[in-house]
Amino acid sequence: MRVHYRCKHCQSSIAQLNHDRLNLDQLGFKHVAPEQRNHMIKQHSVNDVEVFVICESCESALYKFPIYHELDYFIH
Ligand SMILES: [Zn+2]
Repeated sequence: MRVHYRCKHCQSSIAQLNHDRLNLDQLGFKHVAPEQRNHMIKQHSVNDVEVFVICESCESALYKFPIYHELDYFIH
């Protein structure tokens, strides 16, 4: 199964992994609520899955958001 990890915010490709003989449950997704799974996982075919996560740059951007907000305010 080919799993493509993509950022849900900027759509950038994070990683593409081949999990032979593994399914989504074995990758730990059985612990994720079904509703959340639908948002996170886009299954194109049995062997082709996209998983939406947050990339490092978006994570740090979100973390710094209050600072950006202040800067924005400052510029205006
Ligand atoms: Zn991102």
